[in-house]
Amino acid sequence: MIIAANLKTNLTRKQTTEYLNTLDSLIDASNSTQEVLVFPATSSLNPHAGKVIVGAQNAYPATNGAFTGEIGSEHLAEFGITTILIGHSERRHVLGESQEELVTKFNFYKDLGFKIVYCVGEPLSLREEGEEAMMKYIDAQYEGIDLNYKNLIIAYEPVWAIGTGLTPTSKDIEDLHSKLKEKCSAPLLYGGSVKVANAKEVLGLKSVDGILVGGAALNVEDFNTMINFAQEIE
Ligand code: PEP
Repeated sequence: MIIAANLKTNLTRKQTTEYLNTLDSLIDASNSTQEVLVFPATSSLNPHAGKVIVGAQNAYPATNGAFTGEIGSEHLAEFGITTILIGHSERRHVLGESQEELVTKFNFYKDLGFKIVYCVGEPLSLREEGEEAMMKYIDAQYEGIDLNYKNLIIAYEPVWAIGTGLTPTSKDIEDLHSKLKEKCSAPLLYGGSVKVANAKEVLGLKSVDGILVGGAALNVEDFNTMINFAQEIE
């Protein structure tokens, strides 16, 4: 399975290095064979030589250039980064990235062969409008994305479940994931308030190929416990 941690705007470079080294030791000790991805804050990136794959939370679709405040692919290359998160709800809804911008970013990093974790998910208002409106919204997030890209991973993250402690029921996750699996055969992660207390149940669902964890991954032991759950289930 794929177990991913989005560290968001947390942990300094020193703390991130400690986090990654601890996580690698824990993974070595448990002989885990799960695919583990960690997305640190941009300024905390560093070359990392362990089992954990370090990815970027964001980058601009350019090698370099006049894009103040952004980093380009050559800055990722400096740290050996070949994995990127695209379409996270905080980038869509807090930072205002449009589908068009996300597609440009997706295509740029696809052309470089990056592993791309592409996030989709609906706000609460759309879920409340009913299934048709919700699926229409999610379908639009697939527009322009090459669903046959070999290094694609999709993460379904309902916006209302991110950082709120709320999660859909297991049946809701299973139903939605089954629909998303019909659209695309890439591995499909669930994200949104996953923690030690619910990770086993989520990972045990048939249509879940892994999890993307935010807040609860900041505790490295807890994140490792979730990796161990995946190992037990697989
Ligand atoms: C996320 O940011 O991708 C996420 C799933 O956050 P949390 O686990 O904190 O809901």
